[in-house]
Amino acid sequence: MDNHTHKQAVAHVTDLRKSYGTGDNTVTALDGINLSLERGAFTAIMGPSGSGKSTLMHIMAGLDRATSGRVRLGEDDITDLDDNQLTLIRRRRIGFVFQSFNLVPTLDVEANICLPFELDGRRPNGDERAWISTLESALGLQSRRTHRPHELSGGQQQRVAIARALATRPAVLFADEPTGNLDSRTGRSVLALLAASSTEYGQSIAMVTHDPIAASYADRIVFLADGRVVDDRPRSTPEQISALMLGMERAS
Ligand code: ADP
Ligand code: MG
Repeated sequence: MDNHTHKQAVAHVTDLRKSYGTGDNTVTALDGINLSLERGAFTAIMGPSGSGKSTLMHIMAGLDRATSGRVRLGEDDITDLDDNQLTLIRRRRIGFVFQSFNLVPTLDVEANICLPFELDGRRPNGDERAWISTLESALGLQSRRTHRPHELSGGQQQRVAIARALATRPAVLFADEPTGNLDSRTGRSVLALLAASSTEYGQSIAMVTHDPIAASYADRIVFLADGRVVDDRPRSTPEQISALMLGMERAS
């Protein structure tokens, strides 16, 4: 890969390997992954259950460590950072959205969205406040600011989680099956929001999914199988993605 591509990469892994356990019990989750996430792009990571999607996402996001290989975030090599340094990187440069929303039940919407600043020991400044308001209106949360998570629908809770993840303007937003707990219509509106944050705000996104419809919202689809990248495609229709997945199942 040339230097130009390196410069554009917002996250980059080289010969990434991850195994769990020892001896006969060793499980190889990642078996030599080379991947660059392009700045401003919405990338989907697909593959069957157990193919290493979550492990890859966790290592790229500084939530877990590789067994070998290098991990870079923008220009910075984060492979050898200690836990405290990784915690700061996650707070300041990475956003997360999970299948299970992970909102704090005792905090209202506004406090949940501001949590990343709270954890970083500060309050949003004027510019950040304006951005949070923009996010709240774009996500239809303005009238919900003082509601607690249990007073919201699943789709609204996931929109709060997205607002929280985008509030600090992270270098990369990582989403692991973000629509997994939503009905299909609500799921589509969440996917449209993720796609819009990439096209309108240049947000870089990596989304793990096994759903061809979800993946069809992405600019690019990376396919994993047995801890390796087995295909890498530009934007595709759900039908094209389903056909690719079926072909992979037949080949294995
Ligand atoms: P996916 O997200 O694609 O379903 P994972 O990254 O969760 O795949 O898992 C990849 C492989 O690593 C699987 O075989 C899984 O069982 C194994 N694995 C994941 N996490 C652990 C762990 N903490 N301990 C042992 N094995 C694990
Ligand atoms: Mg997973």
